Amino acid sequence: MRIDILTLFPEMFAPLQTSLLGKAQDKNALEINLINIRDFSKDKHKKCDDYTFGGGNGMLMTPQPIYDAITSIKGYKRAYKIYMSPKGITYNQEKAKTLSQKKHIIILCGHYEGIDERIIDLLIDEEISIGDYVLTGGEIPAMAVVDSLSRYIDGVLGDINSTEDESFSNGLLEYPQYTRPQEFMGLKVPDVLVSGDHQKVDQWRKEQSIKITKKRRPELIGEGK
Ligand code: SAM
Repeated sequence: MRIDILTLFPEMFAPLQTSLLGKAQDKNALEINLINIRDFSKDKHKKCDDYTFGGGNGMLMTPQPIYDAITSIKGYKRAYKIYMSPKGITYNQEKAKTLSQKKHIIILCGHYEGIDERIIDLLIDEEISIGDYVLTGGEIPAMAVVDSLSRYIDGVLGDINSTEDESFSNGLLEYPQYTRPQEFMGLKVPDVLVSGDHQKVDQWRKEQSIKITKKRRPELIGEGK
């Protein structure tokens, strides 16, 4: 998969070079390109923002540099083009899985008060929000999307099956997990987990998943919240 990220602040994306995503890029399981929108500005001072028509607080990203940056990308017409926006549909695990099946994704990060609406009309396939709160820019939302969808791409996780019984993958939150030592600060790992009886372990995990989901996110299993 190839992901092109358009931003005014490419230096914010250092986290994508570390840990599993860094390794995945080294192995060519994933290609991530950062494109600085400012490089495409035709303004003599490389300005990329301006006042909003009709008045209002703050500045808006101008359409020309964004339009030129997106259309400069080879294969942009066929790529799935996303604008990170608090007005978009709310991102979730299912969406991450769906996006991981695309071959080429372009992600546009807004800043200031956002972008000129005509870019959305002309070029964007989908607006995606990472939740009902407003951040200063689309860079952190874009990283959340790239990180989560990458976990479904072959070669990113050591074991692709590890996405299967995680929170949200089966409609439930994950059960509690423990590692060594068997006793810590007087608290013991539940006996069933060290019993060696895999059937009982599976049963316990299922029960715990249902219990925690009912308590914290009842709407995930069709119960009112
Ligand atoms: N004026 C916009 C509004 O009220 O909807 C908010 C603009 S926000 C300060 C600047 C940029 O941050 C947006 O263009 C978007 O790219 C990004 N952003 C902020 N919150 C976001 C969220 N919850 N999900 C995705 N992107 C977000």
